[in-house]
Amino acid sequence: MAKLTLKDLDLQNRRVLVRVDFNVPLEAGRVTDNTRIRAALPTIQYLIDRGARVILMSHLGRPKGKVKEELRLDPVAKELEGLLGRPVHKVNDCIGPEVKAAAAALQPGEVLLLENLRFHPEEEKNDPEFARKLASLADLYVNDAFGAAHRAHASTEGVAHYLPAAAGFLLQKEIETLGKALADPERPFVAIIGGAKVSDKISVIRNLLTKVDTLIIGGGMANTFLRARGYSMGKSLVEEDQVPLARELMAQAERQGVKMLLPRDLVVAQEFKADAPHQVVAANAVPDGWMALDIGPETAREYANALNGARTVVWNGPMGVFEMEPFAHGTEAVARAVAAVDGMTIVGGGDSVAAVEKVGVAGKIGHISTGGGASLEFLEGKALPGVVALTEKQAEE
Ligand code: ADP
Ligand code: MG
Repeated sequence: MAKLTLKDLDLQNRRVLVRVDFNVPLEAGRVTDNTRIRAALPTIQYLIDRGARVILMSHLGRPKGKVKEELRLDPVAKELEGLLGRPVHKVNDCIGPEVKAAAAALQPGEVLLLENLRFHPEEEKNDPEFARKLASLADLYVNDAFGAAHRAHASTEGVAHYLPAAAGFLLQKEIETLGKALADPERPFVAIIGGAKVSDKISVIRNLLTKVDTLIIGGGMANTFLRARGYSMGKSLVEEDQVPLARELMAQAERQGVKMLLPRDLVVAQEFKADAPHQVVAANAVPDGWMALDIGPETAREYANALNGARTVVWNGPMGVFEMEPFAHGTEAVARAVAAVDGMTIVGGGDSVAAVEKVGVAGKIGHISTGGGASLEFLEGKALPGVVALTEKQAEE
């Protein structure tokens, strides 16, 4: 990696300001899912073990620049205390004299959690003065919040201009894994793109078309591609204004020798409801008044076959409305097929990750990305501001 990483830093006694993604769900003042906190533990534990003084900062929810009592990070501090098995100091702001004093009083191996960064409007505005105040708390900066790396905020980008800035283990793993898949994939490389809309993922499809051997399309967005083939799609979700673009992407695939797979059959229903009457039809025979809510069984088999022997797989977006049982089979079949692949498998996107967990195959996926928006932007080929801002290795050596 070209950027500084944790292992490049001399940490003993140093004050280290760490941006983590502790944006976890809360209910009645308790953390209901601590996945994101656990994901940051390797970095935090490493810092503790090296005798660093650890200052953690995160956002939580959308307080929009104002103090919101229910979005304070105290429940997170408590949860982290339990996971680390050691005390976590907590302050009620992220800048100011009290915070400064608490940071100054930290002993090697001690942990301090700052208050929700987004209580200050300057955070999301990437205000340089606010970033400088955050930086003044420490000697070194570590970014381990991949989920926020696509945002240029004071705590993810601005602060890196004032301190030596390194990637934490989680961020490092994300960019190394996703980066290798895009820059130097083992082949065959198969990407599966689904979800509701083409318009959400045009840039991802465009970028992946220059890299993959096979591109599999499913979910609601497949309807727009089928429409571009001239099929009538009934009441299905179709983005009519994206039809020309879908046509262009199909032509691009052909020019570049990329195999593009579209559904052959579909599960169609009369209404967008779990208990609506439904049936399987050929992709070119959607009856008037019916809507496609999943790929059909023949398509699911074909997609699973296309994954057979793949050495790199990237999956983003479910194959159907998997939240409703009758329309979950396509997504479940693809989840199982991805899990069965021997090569490197990467799943990104909130709903796709949820699907993999629901099927119970998360443990068999090579890399589950922790950042929905960030992983999407990475797959689009965009530079992530939180990564760009980190210190180059050369510059330090
Ligand atoms: P991810 O979070 O993995 O990036 P998206 O948010 O892009 O995925 O898409 C997931 C959503 O797409 C789900 O809520 C799912 O119900 C919806 N979806 C999938 N297929 C269809 C379809 N055929 N018609 C309507 N919505 C669909
Ligand atoms: Mg989603």
